[in-house]
Amino acid sequence: METLETLLNVSKLNDYVIRILGQNPGKFTLQGTNTYLIGRHPPFILVDTGEGRDEFLPLLEATLRQPRTQSTPYSNCLVSDIIITHRHRDHFGGLPSVLELLKRIHMEGNADADLVRPRIHKYPSPPKSESLSHESDLQSILSSLPTSTYIPSSAGSPIHDLWESQNFVTSDGTVSLTVLHTPGHTPDSICLLLRDLTDVDEQPNSLFTADSVLGQGTAVFEDLSTYLESLQRLLSLHEERNVKASFKAVYPGHGPVVADGPQLISTYIRHRREREDQIVGVLSRPVATQKGELVGKLGDTWTIWAIVGEIYKEYPENLWLPAAHGVGLHLRKLERDGRTRCLGGESINQRWTLLPKV
Ligand SMILES: [Zn+2]
Repeated sequence: METLETLLNVSKLNDYVIRILGQNPGKFTLQGTNTYLIGRHPPFILVDTGEGRDEFLPLLEATLRQPRTQSTPYSNCLVSDIIITHRHRDHFGGLPSVLELLKRIHMEGNADADLVRPRIHKYPSPPKSESLSHESDLQSILSSLPTSTYIPSSAGSPIHDLWESQNFVTSDGTVSLTVLHTPGHTPDSICLLLRDLTDVDEQPNSLFTADSVLGQGTAVFEDLSTYLESLQRLLSLHEERNVKASFKAVYPGHGPVVADGPQLISTYIRHRREREDQIVGVLSRPVATQKGELVGKLGDTWTIWAIVGEIYKEYPENLWLPAAHGVGLHLRKLERDGRTRCLGGESINQRWTLLPKV
């Protein structure tokens, strides 16, 4: 626990939250996936497992094996529950190795390891999403898990389905986690509201946001409409000023802790609105010819590529393609709002028109 490497990768964020980096830093994962151990004493609740890097396990093991003080209640079980925040591999890929590790540690101290197997939890994905690569990835990992390493659901699945407002309380009764379904990044994304139940001064709660709100940069999303609704919902929890529901610090799935979470969420929402206004502004103008040459060939409607060419004209063209994906999602949201209509075409050549305001 005391080596420099451990110190850099394991951070005690407060009395009851320890962050362990998933050891998968990268362009899209920033410092890597953050995993969190919640609770003042074992058994802990583990939020996410990283993507399954070998280097993660010694860090988790060292943290779990930390010597406890005399006053610490003894528990055979080190992790009672594992909550997976959503269906991306960098959050669930570590499940097999983490479960094996827990089984090994539990077996050392207790011959009847069956009694201390953890439960795995995740919010269900909508029906018809089984064919998606994320889902098949998840299903193949789940089907590979030895049944001796977890407590199955009543339906026999490795996953216990989470539900909106479900509450977890650590075994010593001092910390609670409440599930908030916040789709948008993925349809099964959740946030977890963290409350210190011993806090007589009623300090603000904190929020685990997984990939819905990141510690740096901007988050990506599959569906902009539901994503913005989720962000707005989080913000209104804060604005209600209800001590049980409001929050301040945000613990993201990637990047550092955000001290003022509500402010960052407002910035995210403002940024999306500004982008939307830009797109509406472009669509309401005559079609450009100089930057988006494809446009002229396709007629007098805006293609996604031509819109990108307008909005990102100050940026290098190698950034246009990733930007086109975001513009496409904005156009879909505007379509759902009754502001735009797709006139056909594929990918970046998709043609869009602005509808008159009703
Ligand atoms: Zn993700």
